[in-house]
Amino acid sequence: QDETGEERLTLTVNKGDFSRMRITGQFNLGFILATRPGGDSSGDELFIIDQHASDEKYNFERLQAETELQHQRLVQPRTLELTAVEEEIVIENLRIFEKNGFRISVDNSGEEPIGRRCKLTALPVSREVVFDTRDLEELIAMLGESPPSATSDFIPRPSKVRRLFAMRACRSSTMIGKTLTTTQMERIVRHMGTIDKPWNCPHGRPTMRHLMTLDEWDEKYNEYNQPKITNLT
Ligand code: ZN
Ligand code: ZN
Repeated sequence: QDETGEERLTLTVNKGDFSRMRITGQFNLGFILATRPGGDSSGDELFIIDQHASDEKYNFERLQAETELQHQRLVQPRTLELTAVEEEIVIENLRIFEKNGFRISVDNSGEEPIGRRCKLTALPVSREVVFDTRDLEELIAMLGESPPSATSDFIPRPSKVRRLFAMRACRSSTMIGKTLTTTQMERIVRHMGTIDKPWNCPHGRPTMRHLMTLDEWDEKYNEYNQPKITNLT
């Protein structure tokens, strides 16, 4: 009868589950305890959710989807030296470059040869990070490797922009050590069901863990006074 450990590891959580979870309480001023109601043959499942990591991921994904970076005009527009393929990528994705703070003007007069038709007129700016043309090159390469589908509104971001958003999300998210009301905890948990990848924070930290199936409590956890959750911080 020692199969529950295995089951616990492979237990599936769907994003829809977050809308069904019930808040049980806060643990150690850093974690939300929530249960997913079981069915006829299965018990309720108890989860522990990192209040900072999960709120941070929600804020990060919103920044990824919505932010248009500030830009700063170059004194002297810079002609980009591109291959024909790269130039095509730039021309077809101008909106994505704009969202990332790059402004590019395209010369369609026919006077410039292919590969020299794009001019960089502005670079992204932020207080935290300095951008240069290598970030533009990275974005061109990203778009070449996985062209965005016309139907998706996913905006590819260069790594510096992702790091910037992770930093901003961290600063604006619920901190560890903060007492939360049930309503605040509920909001964090419901938000997890609305985001693309709720399982890890932008720095890679897991946002939640499964603790146990509650009908196993008596038989499996009697011997310990507490479930073993102290090592989760
Ligand atoms: Zn953080
Ligand atoms: Zn993080």
